[in-house]
Amino acid sequence: MTTRKVSPATEPPSSAEVNAASASFARLTSKLDYLSAADLGQVRLAYRFADEAHLGQLRNSGEPYITHPIAVAAQCAEWKLDAQALMAALLHDAMEDCDISKPDLIERFGSPVAELVDGLTKLEKLQFNTREENQAESFRKMLLAMARDVRVILIKLADRTHNMRTLSDAPREKWQRIASETLEVYAPIAHRLGLNQTYRELQDLSFRHLHPWRYAVLTKAVAKARGRRRDLIQKVQADLEATFAHYGMTVRIAGREKTLYSIYDKMVDKNLSFAQVTDIYGFRVIVPHLIDCYTALGLLHQLYKPVPGKFKDHIAISKINGYQSLHTTLVGPSSVNVEFQLRTEAMHLIAESGVAAHWLYKDDAQDGVSHNDRMGSKWLQSLIDIQDETRDAAEFWEHVKVDLFPDAVYVFTPKSRIMAMPRGATVVDFAYAIHSNVGDHAVSAKVNNEQVPLRTEVKNGDVIEIITDATSSPNPAWLGFVRTARARSKIRQNLRTMAQTDSQHLGEKMLAQALRAEGIENLPNNEKPYEATWEKLLRFSGNKTRADLLTDIGLGKRIASIVAKRLAKLLADTGEKPNALLLTRERFGAGEAIAQGSVQIDGSENTSVRFAHCCRPVPGDSIVGYLGRGEGLTLHTSNCYVAQKLYSKDSERFISVEWADEPVRSFEAGVVVTVTNGKGVLAKVAGALAAAEADITHVDMADDSDQGAMDLKFVIAVRDLQQLELVLRNLRRTPAVLRAERIQNGSQVTG
Ligand code: MN
Repeated sequence: MTTRKVSPATEPPSSAEVNAASASFARLTSKLDYLSAADLGQVRLAYRFADEAHLGQLRNSGEPYITHPIAVAAQCAEWKLDAQALMAALLHDAMEDCDISKPDLIERFGSPVAELVDGLTKLEKLQFNTREENQAESFRKMLLAMARDVRVILIKLADRTHNMRTLSDAPREKWQRIASETLEVYAPIAHRLGLNQTYRELQDLSFRHLHPWRYAVLTKAVAKARGRRRDLIQKVQADLEATFAHYGMTVRIAGREKTLYSIYDKMVDKNLSFAQVTDIYGFRVIVPHLIDCYTALGLLHQLYKPVPGKFKDHIAISKINGYQSLHTTLVGPSSVNVEFQLRTEAMHLIAESGVAAHWLYKDDAQDGVSHNDRMGSKWLQSLIDIQDETRDAAEFWEHVKVDLFPDAVYVFTPKSRIMAMPRGATVVDFAYAIHSNVGDHAVSAKVNNEQVPLRTEVKNGDVIEIITDATSSPNPAWLGFVRTARARSKIRQNLRTMAQTDSQHLGEKMLAQALRAEGIENLPNNEKPYEATWEKLLRFSGNKTRADLLTDIGLGKRIASIVAKRLAKLLADTGEKPNALLLTRERFGAGEAIAQGSVQIDGSENTSVRFAHCCRPVPGDSIVGYLGRGEGLTLHTSNCYVAQKLYSKDSERFISVEWADEPVRSFEAGVVVTVTNGKGVLAKVAGALAAAEADITHVDMADDSDQGAMDLKFVIAVRDLQQLELVLRNLRRTPAVLRAERIQNGSQVTG
């Protein structure tokens, strides 16, 4: 029968204590007795190398810099990390601060150690400096993803812990940034990984440096409260010891103190008084075997009355980070509530050390800890299984990450920039995530230096290199496998703008029309006897091919009438005379269309002609065409305000356009419908549109429902103005419709 008292949690050690303790390597070696002699020799080599590399560098405290790597390695030794991790801990600042290269490290200490150090160096370069919560979350994810090995994160946490312990030595203006980064990024990572002891320490140290005054006040208050309740705590402790002794149970009882930060956080967060937060006492009972947890629970429930609804079985249902314990709250002496946690040693280890317990476990197994207890956490066990079977740290870490963040995949550019991609994303998604130019010109890709098809799904930790070719353009087939909205829209956009053939087709039409204004009926083809004529024309325009010239005209890079005049002259040189009748009719018959024929629009122009969204012209509207530089032809209604503004600046870019007699498709028009709020209104409006045979392509609802009315903005497809007017009449006749107008220039003008 042994019951041991454990003193209440001590305050974080002062920086002076910490530095003194970790100033020598001898201090570290005493913690390394779990290593083999060969491993210990390797660690010593790493120490000597680091010591030399940092020679002459000092910490803020004035101590030799090497005290820091030693302290970090000592923390890693507490977690019983392996020799590679300890070496990396000793070398973690060497690359950054001492110009040691990765090849150097590989040569001296082997590639695994060099990779760990390299990983740490990369993390060092990430600096969190925004205070937004969601930023902190993605920053945490990024850190976890960047560390391709869980040991990198553990060393990083050890590094941060020591830097926090010694933060008081740093210039005061740095406290805020480093402490809040620790609180928002590193402490939650420690928590997620189940490193609760580190989690609590990081929180308290951050609190201490963020709010030194509040920290000091709370420290005093807590000490006072503790003194007041000493009798109570001793009474509970004595009751417990007597009870367990009576039933012959070997247990370890520990008082459980709240951390200062958790007290502070609760007061702020839940708006509680100091008394409300601290007037709860906690004990932890650690028992030999899993079944003892339940036995001890029964004994406790007979000793004091349980508070209903406060019992939780985190053994049967463990927390996501592997935590297991029974929780119960009892009414103790003087009717004060006392919280209890019951767990085995193995559960305690996981509760305090989380992922790090994985290394601690190996040690425990040799000490004969029962297999059942080792099975304590299924989560951790599954990690250990993977580690044991594969001995592959990468896969182990992969598993941890999948558990923590099931929704995203993190991959790297060749320059180690990290990109978060949705699960299932492909190499093409990645290319577009980097830059639309990379996506548009992607021809092939390498994942981890191996050639892969563009449709390959990316996996966590992949290093992806996209090979581009400026002349290449997106393949419509990509739309079949890309996962991200960005890639999809960029591919579509590119396919649209890249529709060269469409522009060429329009250019041909425009040149033919302009040529008619010169009295020539047909655009000559590219064959004999016109070959020479075209060659001369191309020399004049500076294009390589006839197709290029026509595309340029279609895109507005060349003015059709100028090219047509030149072509007419060249044709005249070969003896082809203009048709006088045609010349007169085309030049003077079509109103403003002087010196160039009108381009006929029938809807078959596809991508080369755009219909301006400000006015959305439909057949029946009087229209004008604006030939933007390199963007092809945009149609506006002739009374469109936007077009009129453009005309006042850039009139020579306007060309005469007219609707063909038989448009080949429908066109989009904007309509705003004001309706009373009520059930079934949308259905009625849709019915009115359907009755006029107009298709809805888009709806927007502007919610100004406080007026009892609501604006619905539709884009509908109609054949022509006549049908649009029918639509508006139908709408206005619909009950619940207060108003129906066509949208033009963003304001409403009746069609
Ligand atoms: Mn460091």
